[in-house]
Formats: sequence, structure tokens, C-alpha cells
Amino acid sequence: MSRPCPCTSKLPFDRCCQPFVEGRKLPPTAAQLMRSRFTAYALGKVDYLIETTASAKRAELDREELAAYCASISCVGLKIVATEQGGAADENGMVKFHASLSSGGKRHLHVERSTFVREDGAWRYLDGETN
Ligand SMILES: [Zn+2]
Repeated sequence: MSRPCPCTSKLPFDRCCQPFVEGRKLPPTAAQLMRSRFTAYALGKVDYLIETTASAKRAELDREELAAYCASISCVGLKIVATEQGGAADENGMVKFHASLSSGGKRHLHVERSTFVREDGAWRYLDGETN
């Protein structure tokens, strides 16, 4: 029996995000990519975070900064509150989510509306608006 998935889907890790973050399967929907990226933040899988960022945005990422960020937060919970497109047959998608994070003993709710694009058949994170 696998442990619960860090994305808090209540599914076992091996039946949720594990095949994605280990690069064995591509997430079929933007929402699944979103969940797997939350899991990657939780597990400090910086390579996966970089790989799943749209190629045009990848140069803006700093590997060490990302790793430090992952290490500084605890990913407490994820709730996907809305999606638009982002399905198996789409090229673009939007996912709005609430990520509950904790850092230095303080809880913080990160609310973001993220945009995803499909590149070479794989969903990638393009950008996000936070409020
Ligand atoms: Zn998961």
C-alpha cells in the first residue's frame, strides 16, 4: 500500500501523482499537471517543476531559488476550485486553485489562476495570476 499522495487527493501516491513526477506518464489534463506540480513542490522535485514549465518561461527559473523555496514551505493541502478547458483534447487550459502552505509555523493560502499550454503533447505551466 502506497502512502497518500502529497497533492491531498486522498488517492494513494502510486495511483495519483507518482507516475507523473517520476516521468513515467504524462498527465492527461491540465488539472492533473497542476496536482503533480503541487506534489513536486511538496517533494522538492525541482527538475520536474522546470520540465513542466512552458519552454518560453523556463529561462526565468532559478534552480537554486526553486529548491530553496520548496525546502522553506510545507504543502498542506490543495483544492482545485475551477477549471476551463485543459482536457485531453485541448491545447490550452486554466486551473484555479487554493494551495494551503505553511512556512515558519505560519499558514498561508495561495490562491492562483494558472494558465497551461500543451507543448509537444505535454501539458506545461505557462503563468499564473495570484491574489
Ligand atoms: Zn496526487
